Amino acid sequence: MFADLHLHTNFSDGTYTPEELAEHAARYRFKAVALTDHDTVEGCARMAAACKARGIEFVPGSELTVEHEGHELHVLAYFIDAEHPRLLSEMAHFQKVRQERIVEIVARLNEIGIPLKSESVFAIAKCNSPGRPHVGRALVQAKICSSVDEAFERFLKRNRPGWVPKFRMSAEHAIELIHEAGGLAVLAHPALNRADDLIEPLAELGLDGIECYHTKHGTGHIETYSLLAERLKLLVTGGSDCHGMNKGRPLIGSIKVPYQHVERLRTAAETLRGRLSTSRAPQ
Ligand code: AMP
Ligand code: ZN
Ligand code: FE
Ligand code: FE
Repeated sequence: MFADLHLHTNFSDGTYTPEELAEHAARYRFKAVALTDHDTVEGCARMAAACKARGIEFVPGSELTVEHEGHELHVLAYFIDAEHPRLLSEMAHFQKVRQERIVEIVARLNEIGIPLKSESVFAIAKCNSPGRPHVGRALVQAKICSSVDEAFERFLKRNRPGWVPKFRMSAEHAIELIHEAGGLAVLAHPALNRADDLIEPLAELGLDGIECYHTKHGTGHIETYSLLAERLKLLVTGGSDCHGMNKGRPLIGSIKVPYQHVERLRTAAETLRGRLSTSRAPQ
């Protein structure tokens, strides 16, 4: 029995609808999946219904971009209340920042003579939480690039002409927000961010887990991070980080996380929510 706890839909920069993603999850016979769209939980209700219809357990989630000690890190939120007012209001702010960033990226590309319109990026994104992959897809559609990967290489990654840094909340803020929304905070794909030295300090700030299994983690990484999780008493999670067809082929199915980790995650979330309701009860 396996799970995939890192998936994106077209509510952020994935290409699949929640229903299409649930269909793929069913094909791989996953027992549980989590939706972790960037800075939004808008896809969770549809994904929950699509998973229920296929007998798959659903974990509501999101992926937040944070900053710690000058590093950009991604923090996954699991079992969050997708209707939590403060969470929704902070996410709405980050969505607005993302939309403004698209306009800025396009302006930078225009400055170097690339004839792209932000309207064509928004027409592709059709969501509140657009990102660089949507700009990449617009560049492919305009025949300026032949793939999203090429668009990142030539224009969108750090130090390229279209690079615009993304405003990020502090890791401390993200962990506190996720906990207030009844969720658990897990450091996403640490090997991608070369963040190993930051894990212990983040655990002291309340981080709950490490994403040990990820498409870009080799077996050495899985072992190293699992041992670190054990030493720091952190939860273990993992997922494919599937963005649908952005990379030419879907990654779902490439990572199979043993289901026991979902059970541990669920128990920890229930314990956290128990603590929250006790601290909120009238004295
Ligand atoms: P953003 O949130 O706008 O900064 O965009 C980050 C997203 O871009 C990540 O979720 C990645 O999936 C995607 N991404 C990063 N590098 C590449 C690349 N070289 N090719 C395709 N997608 C990428
Ligand atoms: Zn993404
Ligand atoms: Fe990420
Ligand atoms: Fe992701």
